[in-house]
Amino acid sequence: MPSETRQAEDSVENLDPIAISEEQFNRAAVLVKGLKRGLVEFLKKPKRVNIVNFPVEMDDDSVRSFTAYRVVHNRVFGPSKGGIRYHPDVTMEEVISLAKLMTWKCALVNLPFGGAKGGLICDTKSLSERELRRITRRFTSELFDELGPHQDIPAPDLYTSEQTMAWIFDTYDVLHPGFNNRPVVTGKPIEMGGSYGRYEATGNGCLFATQRFLSKALIPELEDVSGLRVAIQGFGDVGAVAANAFHRQGAKIVAVSDSQGGIFNAAGLDPAAVESFKAEQGSVVGLADTTTITNQELLELECDILLPAALGNQIHAGNAANIKARLVVEGANNPTTPGADRILQARGIHVLPDILVNAGGVTVSYYEWVQNQINQQWDYATTTEKMRAKIHTAVDAVFNRWQAFVVGEAPAQNHLPDFRTIALVIAIERVAHATLMRGIWP
Ligand code: NAD
Repeated sequence: MPSETRQAEDSVENLDPIAISEEQFNRAAVLVKGLKRGLVEFLKKPKRVNIVNFPVEMDDDSVRSFTAYRVVHNRVFGPSKGGIRYHPDVTMEEVISLAKLMTWKCALVNLPFGGAKGGLICDTKSLSERELRRITRRFTSELFDELGPHQDIPAPDLYTSEQTMAWIFDTYDVLHPGFNNRPVVTGKPIEMGGSYGRYEATGNGCLFATQRFLSKALIPELEDVSGLRVAIQGFGDVGAVAANAFHRQGAKIVAVSDSQGGIFNAAGLDPAAVESFKAEQGSVVGLADTTTITNQELLELECDILLPAALGNQIHAGNAANIKARLVVEGANNPTTPGADRILQARGIHVLPDILVNAGGVTVSYYEWVQNQINQQWDYATTTEKMRAKIHTAVDAVFNRWQAFVVGEAPAQNHLPDFRTIALVIAIERVAHATLMRGIWP
């Protein structure tokens, strides 16, 4: 049983990832006018699902077999785009649901991409760098022509990094000589055509989305992040960058965590000190002048903003009633279950959804893809400001549409849609419209 499922076992929710994405889709689809059944069926299913099994020689000369998935959900707007995660709990159903999420995310921020996702079942902590390199190369070669700069473009996700992306690029480039293959993967190291601002993009985007949302003055006394208490679950690419970004704007990072547990200091943590401690010790737990807490305690802390930036299904029907934050900002993908969404909404706690909040990553990935094709490298300020503008536009679109529902468009005043549903309505409308314009071939 995946750990995130175990954490939610107290609740009676159906935590099957496909069931969750269908429920989220259905809640939005009923609000999209004129969505025909054939189109609904097309949008619900992935375009293609690749399952690959392959052997790898380990450092001790044994041979192990690995299973990995690459799912393409939709290519209506362009090549498919989405990260690859390495985790022991990866399932095909999870990868399918994450590929769908990428379709809606790209549509919401108006990127010329469809959605895809990859997952490889492994525990990176028990593998050497040489083993990880061989696993990554073999997975890439198994996908061969399924990937491509105008076909399907991976990026980093859970437990994959710019090093993983460099191996994917190198393998693809060796197998496809004679072309500019740099745009085949994003999140690469800067020296290999990576983009300035890509590593920081998702965490920075979390801040930009939150600032823009708070500026709408929907939550009394929360109009700016300065002085707000922020608790962050996960201290990886997304969580650590978000901690620094919020801290620079005057927010108080009261707690952070990783897979080993969490740390708390009511006076606020210094994210840079946490980062160097984690780099030395392998975990945030044990930093001086902090209290050790569990990940569950972190989620239920007294704070203003809760920013999950680790795994899925962390806020569920079993703990949503205990959440004390006034705003949930979804840095991770799928951290909140539909049951929790309902409980939080009834308690007046807004959730800024993943497809809006963490879209900064795929947005700067898009800029990396553009830079690679025109052989340019833009500076950090350029990519970050372009991304900020896109996130602001998307927040405005979601907020304005939500307000339109509040003043009358909603089916019933006691069933007002939440921000996730509204974000999905906008994304589904865009993909549905483009699908109909393209028509069916042949
Ligand atoms: P990462 O591997 O860099 O970091 C993951 C963090 O989560 C680590 O600190 C890890 O210790 C922690 N973690 C793992 N298991 C945990 C547990 N059981 N409880 C608490 N913490 C735990 O991954 P990342 O790239 O930061 O991705 C985090 C989330 O953000 C994922 O859901 C991912 O899909 C999503 N996301 C990432 C990006 C990106 O650009 N990297 C973009 C969009 C969304």
